[in-house]
Amino acid sequence: MREELHRVAEWIASYKETIEQRAIAPTVQPGEIAAKFAEVAPMSGAPMEQLLGELDALIMPGIVHWGHPAFLGYFGSTSNGPALIGEMIAAALNVNAMTWRTSPAATELEGVVLAWIREMIGLPDAFMGIVYDTASVALMHALAAAREAAGSEIRTRGLVGRAELKPFRVYASDQAHSGVEKAMVVLGLGEENVVRVRSDERFRMDVRELERAIVDDIAHGLRPMAVVATVGTTSTGSIDPVPEIAAVCCARELWLHVDAAYGGALAMLPERRDVMAGAELADSVVVNGHKWLFIPLDFSALYTRRPDILRSVFALTPEYLRGDAESKGAVDYMDYGIQLGRRFRALKAWMAIRAFGREGMEARIREHCRLAELFAGWVEHQPYYSTAAPVTMAVVCFRFQPPGMSDESADLLNEQIVEAVNASGDAYLTHTTLRGWRAMRVGVGNVLTVERHLQYAWQRIRDEGERLSRM
Ligand code: PLP
Repeated sequence: MREELHRVAEWIASYKETIEQRAIAPTVQPGEIAAKFAEVAPMSGAPMEQLLGELDALIMPGIVHWGHPAFLGYFGSTSNGPALIGEMIAAALNVNAMTWRTSPAATELEGVVLAWIREMIGLPDAFMGIVYDTASVALMHALAAAREAAGSEIRTRGLVGRAELKPFRVYASDQAHSGVEKAMVVLGLGEENVVRVRSDERFRMDVRELERAIVDDIAHGLRPMAVVATVGTTSTGSIDPVPEIAAVCCARELWLHVDAAYGGALAMLPERRDVMAGAELADSVVVNGHKWLFIPLDFSALYTRRPDILRSVFALTPEYLRGDAESKGAVDYMDYGIQLGRRFRALKAWMAIRAFGREGMEARIREHCRLAELFAGWVEHQPYYSTAAPVTMAVVCFRFQPPGMSDESADLLNEQIVEAVNASGDAYLTHTTLRGWRAMRVGVGNVLTVERHLQYAWQRIRDEGERLSRM
């Protein structure tokens, strides 16, 4: 095994060393990768050398290199040395962090990194944290707690056949993540009971619209349950007015969930602490390590001021796991979620935070914001290009519309530019729709991205724009 590990270390180091020379996105068609594999599991085993050969020949041709410094799509989740070593060690230990007793250090390190992140993003100590895989799953848990807080004994009695229950309503802006609907589907509350509240010209939830929607729902016999406010929306990185939303939630006794999956990290910067203003009033807050805290997929921290409610929904201890640790103050994280078995995610988080240090993390986040501002400046100075949303975080949405071109043709053109740049393998960006218009979108979140990568991407975008608008 030692020899094999050395070989794998070489493989990973070479991959990292050469990542910039690779085409970011593959050109494969659906089914092409799977077709290279046997339809049933091979009967005989194979040595690691052969496996690595097959990895290179069969799997790598279908990989999108998210770690490439010119990968500017979505919210790039940053892989880095310390965190990936943390993942390897966690795999070697393979402990299950379901209860304190099943691995005390895994549980306690989870508490430690959660407390570190909580303090770094400016949340009060009253918030208890728990790590899930993703923000969507964290949101589902938060809304499950909100549903229980609405006092309807759904844990014990369920939803079906209960005529006395009014439909539960959840409010989120038209920019909020689609995970809200998914959570409502899973919780049996129905995606139609998500009310999408209009956002203002800066893509922030319009609080008067929110109040109107709540009043209207009550008048129609519906039951407002929760509001999801976003700090760092998926398309533009906009920030909902959380303090005002919190006041509405407080007055009407609604659960407030703050989705700071992306934007929470920005509050690490002393000069940007304000982005989390009002989050201390929330019932739950999520921040993703794998978006902007340099922890690779997957790591999502949910914080709640009402852990007792979360626990009352999910604690259900089978006999074989009963112990006395909790009575001595230990946390059994299995009591706070649907999962029993839990990965030792805290290890990679600790490795990343410990290795970068707070200063290192802050410097990188600050640099990402600077790069996004720089890019936005280039866009604004280029004829017929314009930013499509204010730049609040490290995300730039922009649009190209040559003179005389109709809005519809420009929509198509912007999409085609993204496709052409991505197909080239040299850079990678995404598109989004804002107020019905197509826009290109660049997100900076990789530790390896420097100015020249953005310059190159910007050149490629303009070249494709020029070429395609002539066709
Ligand atoms: N919230 C926001 C604002 C997002 O942008 C995303 C995904 O990009 C999510 C939630 C969902 O994150 P996850 O993939 O961790 O479920």
